[in-house]
Amino acid sequence: MREDFLLLNPGPVPLARDVRQAMSEPMVSHRSAEFESVYEDAQNGLDYVFERSSLDGTPTTESDGTSLIFNGTATMAMEAAVANLAGADDEVVSVVNGKFGRRFKRIADRYANVTPVAFDWGQSIDPEAVAEAVTDDTKVVTMVHNETSTGLLNPVAEVGEIAAEHDAYFVVDGVTSLGGDEFLIDEWNVDVAVTDAQKALAAPPGTSAMYATPRAQEAFDGESAPFYEDLEWHLRKADSHQTPFTSAVPLFRGLALAVGHIEDEGMPERIARHRRQSSAFRAAFTTMGLSMFPERNDASEYSNTLTAVSLPASVRENPTDFFDAVTERGASISGGQAHLGGEIFRVSNMGNLSDEQILRGVRTIGEAFLEVGADVDVEAGMAAAREQLR
Ligand code: PLP
Repeated sequence: MREDFLLLNPGPVPLARDVRQAMSEPMVSHRSAEFESVYEDAQNGLDYVFERSSLDGTPTTESDGTSLIFNGTATMAMEAAVANLAGADDEVVSVVNGKFGRRFKRIADRYANVTPVAFDWGQSIDPEAVAEAVTDDTKVVTMVHNETSTGLLNPVAEVGEIAAEHDAYFVVDGVTSLGGDEFLIDEWNVDVAVTDAQKALAAPPGTSAMYATPRAQEAFDGESAPFYEDLEWHLRKADSHQTPFTSAVPLFRGLALAVGHIEDEGMPERIARHRRQSSAFRAAFTTMGLSMFPERNDASEYSNTLTAVSLPASVRENPTDFFDAVTERGASISGGQAHLGGEIFRVSNMGNLSDEQILRGVRTIGEAFLEVGADVDVEAGMAAAREQLR
């Protein structure tokens, strides 16, 4: 793989050199003091991300919650959250407007009675519809903050207020926002937040993390969850900087360094950079003559970490040619998922990308469109991106 290959998929994302190197260090036992110190570093870095993802760096929670790290990607953390909070007699409301909202619902279906509040993928959530579905009988509300399948930033604050009014536990997937965008735990009434190493944290794929507030921790029933996801057990072991079962040592080492880099950059600076870079992508592609895919309402924003753009009609006839033309230029982007395949392309700015890499992404995508005969103005797009990056 060429060193300058430009990975612009929404996870996994490019890794810093020292993060890559850390994964090839000699092995240690997951019950050793060396490993405990790696876990502690990773946990401290995650505490920083979960508790300081505000525009001005002020704490986002007074709750003194706990960051947990799992062997397993975000789907496992999502399942752990639901399975420890809800059982067969409980009511869960799942808000769905994309693939990952649907995944949360599918997970919850296995453990509890679910009322979905569903919208077409790419359509904004209407908080009033959520308010109609959540009742005093609702135990848990699940939703995705940044819907990676469609590029929409969903109204977590509004839904969190509804959950709090009914005393429901609010479980939020911040997989592609945490580490790249604002995430206000107390203000949004979040009880459990979930994220993934391989997204905006810019760590290797394979681990995920959860922030559990004390209120959520008190409600966890580990014995009713899958054995591997017993969060009471995870919490007990986390106190001594270990996991209940064998830890993925190299991945934890990579994660510990990656979250350390986030602390070095500072969350306010990191959020500002992600916002600047995503606005450069949006400006570039719309100025080129393309259309954004998601439909925003007043309660929603475009994602600050992932840009989803409709493919022009001519490209939809043979989208593979377009994606191949991108790859031939030394870059990789993603298409649409499930029924959105062949309809959209998705490009990520998660992690540690430089402004130069963003501009290279714009040019690469623009040139790939020209190669397959699409009518785009690459230079106008580049100028619009530069303007946003200034
Ligand atoms: N949630 C969101 C918003 C995601 O973007 C993803 C992955 O892309 C996931 C959850 C699930 O991650 P994984 O499939 O790696 O478990």
